[in-house]
Amino acid sequence: MVSLNLSEIAAFKAELKDLLEQLRAEAGEEYSEQTKQQDLHVHDSGEEAEAVVDLMMHVENLARHDEEIADCLAALKRIDEGDFGFCLDCGEEIELSRLRACPTASRCIRCQSVLEAEVRKTA
Ligand SMILES: [Zn+2]
Repeated sequence: MVSLNLSEIAAFKAELKDLLEQLRAEAGEEYSEQTKQQDLHVHDSGEEAEAVVDLMMHVENLARHDEEIADCLAALKRIDEGDFGFCLDCGEEIELSRLRACPTASRCIRCQSVLEAEVRKTA
């Protein structure tokens, strides 16, 4: 049972593509910032510490962008395969309000909260 109609799916697809482009542009900027930072010449240990913190921040941002890009690509793939909007874990439909808020969501709210509880437990 699919409650998403074709035009809704097309809208999600367009949104995901926009998001993907935006993420790629942002990741590109992060990447050039990071490269700039690496070329920076530091004069004392204080500056060096600051440069390291900055660099770490860029690395973290890049990693987050990479993850978001991967989520986007996975969602686009699910659209092409006709699996979009279904929970990866239980196979039930993902709430439309949830998809609207987060088109890359791959699990329903119930399974997502179970997963997050597991992550918290192991962290
Ligand atoms: Zn589920």
